[in-house]
Amino acid sequence: MVNILDKKTLYDTVSQLELETEVMLKRLSSFRSTIGELVEQNAALQIENEHLRSRLAEIEKDGSIEQAESGMTKSRMNLEKLYEDGFHVCNMFYGSRRVDDEPCAFCLDVIYGERER
Ligand SMILES: [Zn+2]
Repeated sequence: MVNILDKKTLYDTVSQLELETEVMLKRLSSFRSTIGELVEQNAALQIENEHLRSRLAEIEKDGSIEQAESGMTKSRMNLEKLYEDGFHVCNMFYGSRRVDDEPCAFCLDVIYGERER
């Protein structure tokens, strides 16, 4: 095999593969950052949706703000779930990822605070 495929060709082939791999790596890394942005955008939209839902329930004022056994509104429970999934739900960092699941006092206030939002 090595006799047929001379060393020069072998070397060129490996160099070509190396180049293609580098290009592929760059594309992968760009995909990853795009996906990261989409994931954060999605979280921000979910938060906005929950705020709108709770505002709507407030406006309708027919007592239809659903309360679970825990005493939390459904909207707050959804925000709590997002927070536990690793996203900020506070107005400061809205929808961005919590680095290493660091706790955030602003988020906790949004979820567990006294004031109904
Ligand atoms: Zn936060």
